[in-house]
Amino acid sequence: MSSFLKNIKTIESIEVTGKVTFVRLDLNVPIKNGIISDDTRIRESLPTIRYLLDKKAKIILASHLGRPKSAHDKAFSLEPVGQKLAEMLGIEVILAEDHSIDFMKPTLTGLTKNQIILLENLRFQEGETNNDEALAREWASYCDIYINDAFGASHRAHASIDALPKLMRVKACGFLIKKELEMLGQLLDHPKKPFLAILGGAKVSDKIKMIENLIDKVDAVIIGGAMAYTFIKAQGGNVGKSLVEVDQIHYAKELIKRFEARNKSILLPVDHVFAVSINDTEEKGISDNQNIPHDMLGVDIGPKSISAFVTAINEANTIFWNGPMGVFETEAFSKGTCAIAKALANKTGALRIIGGGDSASAANKAGVANQIDHISTGGGASLEFIQGDKLPGIEALRERHRS
Ligand code: AMP
Repeated sequence: MSSFLKNIKTIESIEVTGKVTFVRLDLNVPIKNGIISDDTRIRESLPTIRYLLDKKAKIILASHLGRPKSAHDKAFSLEPVGQKLAEMLGIEVILAEDHSIDFMKPTLTGLTKNQIILLENLRFQEGETNNDEALAREWASYCDIYINDAFGASHRAHASIDALPKLMRVKACGFLIKKELEMLGQLLDHPKKPFLAILGGAKVSDKIKMIENLIDKVDAVIIGGAMAYTFIKAQGGNVGKSLVEVDQIHYAKELIKRFEARNKSILLPVDHVFAVSINDTEEKGISDNQNIPHDMLGVDIGPKSISAFVTAINEANTIFWNGPMGVFETEAFSKGTCAIAKALANKTGALRIIGGGDSASAANKAGVANQIDHISTGGGASLEFIQGDKLPGIEALRERHRS
């Protein structure tokens, strides 16, 4: 068992039959004009819901959706999510705008085996985001069991994630959180060596805590994306107009030294696709680290870098990837990122884990998402987990209840 699951009950280890079960999910899906454009998060939540249906629990689903300014902002209603769930599960979903015990008690009494309740967007309740205990007490007053399966929201100390489980005697994690803790946990808990971390994206400063937590665990790290330019600049390269965090140059220099002192490799791109601006749609050329023209900026890694990074991937037994290698949203600058995704897919036998929304969409774009061992559903939450931070929603499942 993963040490990250210590003192946490899992859904299968508690008695749920006939019990009113509050299930916190992350159903925060993109919706435009009432249409869901990506239902991944709903699909990822189905095993837990199906299990509870099978066990004849009385199910109350709960989730936030977006960042509504008020309860009247119907663009943030969970209604389309309720419809999708009804379709996927072949049951009736009752959308409850009123979360009070006065409404919920009779609704629960009349609930048939083909019905589940979906609480309307938790953020329509004023107390959700400020972790209000009174709101949590209202929910707790009509529930027997609390299940958290919202990994993507577990880094937020909100009422449904933190205050509520602290009040509940019987609480557990669902199948999704169990899988996330088991898979991401393997990266921090005795990873199979060699362990390679591939970090990319926009900013060094966003990834410092992650690098610090991984430095003693990894054998090598690849740094790509805009982050790489701060490192190349630190080594005296000519990066032209590429994105550089001037205040992180010193850190980058120190980090290179620390890796060298540990006999670990830090791999940087050796060539770059460059363009005039980040909004360009075509490349203007390819150059090495010393020769990015002064009026151009690096937007993707070049072919020599791809080849060196693929070699490193092929030598690893554990691989964690977070952040794209270039401005992958633009087709012409997505080659490096897609090549990394494909190399991961081809490296069977190694444990391959992707954390972070951009790398996950790159794996989808490259058509290899189903060949990766684990793609974390939580962007911010997986980042904080890998950083070594404690996630409030996970810790609350460990704590004894408050009366
Ligand atoms: P992050 O959220 O930190 O993982 O950063 C992801 C963003 O980094 C994406 O929107 C990419 O377009 C951007 N990015 C990656 N490489 C570069 C680059 N060379 N120059 C500018 N932006 C980049």
